[in-house]
Amino acid sequence: MGCCDAPGLMPIEEAMAKILENTHTVQETESLALDKAIGRVLASEILSPIHVPPFDNSAMDGYAVRIADLNTQSTLPLAGQSFAGAPLQGEWPETTCIRIMTGAQIPEGCDAVVMQENVTVTDEGIVFDPSSVKTNQNIRPLGDDIQVGQLVLSKGKRLTARDLPMLASLGVAHVEVYRKPIVATFSTGDELKPVGTPLGAGEIYDSNRYGTIPLFEKFGCDVVDLGVIPDDVELLAQAFEKAKTEADVVVTSGGVSVGEADFTKDILEQKGEIGFWKLAIKPGKPFAFGKLDDALFCGLPGNPVSAFMTAYILVQPLLAKLGGEREWKEAPTLPAKTLSSFKKSPGRTDYQRGIYAINEHGEFEVETTGNQSSGAFRSMSLANCFVILERERGRVEAGETVQIQLFNSTLY
Ligand code: AMP
Ligand code: MG
Repeated sequence: MGCCDAPGLMPIEEAMAKILENTHTVQETESLALDKAIGRVLASEILSPIHVPPFDNSAMDGYAVRIADLNTQSTLPLAGQSFAGAPLQGEWPETTCIRIMTGAQIPEGCDAVVMQENVTVTDEGIVFDPSSVKTNQNIRPLGDDIQVGQLVLSKGKRLTARDLPMLASLGVAHVEVYRKPIVATFSTGDELKPVGTPLGAGEIYDSNRYGTIPLFEKFGCDVVDLGVIPDDVELLAQAFEKAKTEADVVVTSGGVSVGEADFTKDILEQKGEIGFWKLAIKPGKPFAFGKLDDALFCGLPGNPVSAFMTAYILVQPLLAKLGGEREWKEAPTLPAKTLSSFKKSPGRTDYQRGIYAINEHGEFEVETTGNQSSGAFRSMSLANCFVILERERGRVEAGETVQIQLFNSTLY
């Protein structure tokens, strides 16, 4: 991981591979109550301790019958009831039926449930149409959904709202999850002012942390926010020192572009092993990656779109792996027809910001969000997808086909 040693620009795939090679899942795990486990990553597989459902039960409100009884007579007197949580008590005499409700235990000997809409209730009993009754109809058998001992979730699964009800149905009260990775972050730059204060000459607001910190939290991390650090060797050195002792990953913005990189480089070279890369992507060319003792380091470019994009594209998979998530995948790309032209020069893969819609023929169409400068964050705010333009591609005219990548849930 030497400094600036890549000839030309580094393809995004190569950068990603180098980042993931150097990233190792946190070791520590914790046990969490199920209702606190949303978004956390399982540190062990989960085998079902029971059958689900745990007993044969009715899928309908209706009548439990023995088909053999219906072969002798089509009217059966009512002899009892089985309700959800209150199974049939006592004997079930021959040639009778049982009132049964959805979710109630199937009485011993029952081989069909007839829904209440298909019977007639008379003073003599319940009148059935025996020819329409099929063996096991409307009976949900024991273990129909999940069998005892079955693998239901693998180690490395990030728990969603779709997983928790299933685990609850198994009676699982606690899950073993990886601890959250810790990200320490700060912005660098003498020109950066906090929001809520007036701007002096040459100053701008520090906007990057307002995007990256929520992203890191959505990626499942705890964040140590170290604020804005001026371009001062001493103060930067102190900030890096604090960040690396408190976190698994240090993510900074600014100070990695040509000119400024030399400044950061001097500090980082004494503290760690950092590569200052020039990535073949736009925005996001200047990017630094490496190690600061036991912590990983990602230096995002200062330009707001570049900082946000590289956090999403490069830091997100790093944090997924660090947090133990094994199924993380970038969102799929799909073809769309352009409604506007897209400015592009060959040489880098562009992640332009676009707005897609589905037309009346069910096809994806996409238009640009306008000014695609790496400092123009409105292009990101307006967008609902990335328009990924291949490295060697030039200008795209309206009507051409491009690949779009929809945003994953972290951008909403
Ligand atoms: P740098 O990478 O430090 O050379 O910064 C590149 C550009 O991004 C400059 O125009 C900076 O003023 C701007 N910039 C750097 N950090 C931030 C930030 N935290 N918020 C907004 N703009 C920034
Ligand atoms: Mg700067």
